[in-house]
Amino acid sequence: MDQQPSTLCTSFDNLDKGTHICYFYENDRDLADAVIQYFRAGLAKNERGLWVCAGPFDAKTATALLQRDYPELASTLETGQLIVADYDQLYLTGEREFDISVVLDRWATAVSDAIAAGFDGLRVAGDLAWSRSKQVLKEYEERFCAFAMQTPIVTLCCYPLAHMDHVDILDISYIHHFVLALKDSSWHLIPSARHRDLMWQSLLDTLTKGMLAIDASGAIITASNMCLELFGCDSLSCLGSDIKEFTTRFKVSSITGRVRPETANLISSCDVDDYWKAASPTHGDLELLVNIKVAKSNAIMPEVLLLIFHDITGLRTVDTIEGNFLQVVSHELKNPIQTMTAIINLMKASVPDRETPVYKYIKMADSCLSRITGVVEDLLSTGRIKQDSAVINPVQTDLKALVLEALEPYLTDPKHAFICRFDKSQVIRAMVDPVRLHQILANVLNNAVKYTPPGKRIWLDLVISDNTATLVVEDEGIGIPPTELERVFEQFYRGIRTRGRFSGIGLGLYVSRCLARMHGGDLWAETRSGGGTVIKLSLPIVTEDASQENLEQESLEKETM
Ligand code: ATP
Ligand code: MG
Repeated sequence: MDQQPSTLCTSFDNLDKGTHICYFYENDRDLADAVIQYFRAGLAKNERGLWVCAGPFDAKTATALLQRDYPELASTLETGQLIVADYDQLYLTGEREFDISVVLDRWATAVSDAIAAGFDGLRVAGDLAWSRSKQVLKEYEERFCAFAMQTPIVTLCCYPLAHMDHVDILDISYIHHFVLALKDSSWHLIPSARHRDLMWQSLLDTLTKGMLAIDASGAIITASNMCLELFGCDSLSCLGSDIKEFTTRFKVSSITGRVRPETANLISSCDVDDYWKAASPTHGDLELLVNIKVAKSNAIMPEVLLLIFHDITGLRTVDTIEGNFLQVVSHELKNPIQTMTAIINLMKASVPDRETPVYKYIKMADSCLSRITGVVEDLLSTGRIKQDSAVINPVQTDLKALVLEALEPYLTDPKHAFICRFDKSQVIRAMVDPVRLHQILANVLNNAVKYTPPGKRIWLDLVISDNTATLVVEDEGIGIPPTELERVFEQFYRGIRTRGRFSGIGLGLYVSRCLARMHGGDLWAETRSGGGTVIKLSLPIVTEDASQENLEQESLEKETM
């Protein structure tokens, strides 16, 4: 780009020959507006216009648009001053391949044709939305730039913004002489290579995301307006300052990093991976997510890191609304469910003969209702957890008795063999909320039954070590892939082996783990050797001494009452 055309151009009127402009359009309206103004200026100067369509317009719709909204330009279609073509006519060969040399020859022919027809040059607007390989496009643009130099051709390369990432935008911008941008409702040609800083700033200001660029030493090279707004900086005073120092000054409460694996090496080699973590800002109310990308160095641009910030504070609000919603809905469901449970119990009591079909139907309704009750309990708990209002009411209980109680309905399950490995007479004291513990056990046992084919076995064990009791539920079922052993504890996450095959909403394990942790314990999944799943629930137990102390304390309290 050594002998590039003037970079001081600010309008479409006086573009030097060889001028190569890029434009990242957001929608068809912007694209049409830019292209029309660009052609209007060229047609007025006796240039031939050539609109090569792809993306939102094909040749037919572009022609219809001109005829409907721009009759003065449409009339130049008839005289042959303006030509509208589909992209494949110019960019693709008969075999629908993109051959750069062929395309450059076509441009050369198009220029000669324009001159032969009496025009002063050719003004092209080409939409590159059709291309799938950014790398090939960049190579093409480089070669085109060299070709166009000193040729009576002016080019506007249009790229759909939605297909570009920030690095592509920077790379492509650098290959062109100007970047076309809409600022304050008018079109601006922002000079590229010679005015790098100016270009950076103008380009960044057109972006809606918060973006900072830092060099390998961690110094801020530039920041978008949105970024300054996010960080509460009112001027460009941040330029040149160290990112580490900068991140301590803003109104942000937390920044979570998201680094692409391929970027991670480069970042650590530049020693900036901990910049935002080290700063650990705590004095604001904004939560940001940062994406980091490396813009590779080339002849014009040094290697820089692009930090793209997303404001995720709003997501928390959505979380709270979701929490409220879950609470209200599940509360509304809870009352009728309690009434139905009472009615079903009455019905059971009023049918003395357990072998009659009526009794079987009641039992079926009962088990459906238990399922609904479980889901509503999980929804209610999720709502409370989201609002930080979940509480447990622990009392000293025999853990083993609670396990046996939860297990009871399953022991009559004819489809699975339940095998208890623990000593049923042993007493295991723990401070637990019996209702919540039942909820955990029901979730884990339901899963074991649901995800284990009929005829297979399910084992239960209670293992005591130190001050912890661990309930181990082992099944010979479909198993959980190793990559999902943690993910299944996320809310609404359902495993790939289960989605679409088994009913469920993906809350059981999420809620159960939260409840287990509220008890000072934990819940996790392991792969069973030989196939199947092992779910482990650990809970702190009350030792003999502590139990004795508790009893003494209770009797003391009773005496003083
Ligand atoms: P629900 O919230 O109604 O219980 P769910 O069973 O899908 O629905 P979770 O109990 O949270 O949700 O379980 C999450 C996922 O973990 C399941 O969708 C399933 O893929 C997997 N999973 C849980 N337990 C087992 C198991 N014992 N064997 C195989 N996969 C399991
Ligand atoms: Mg479940």
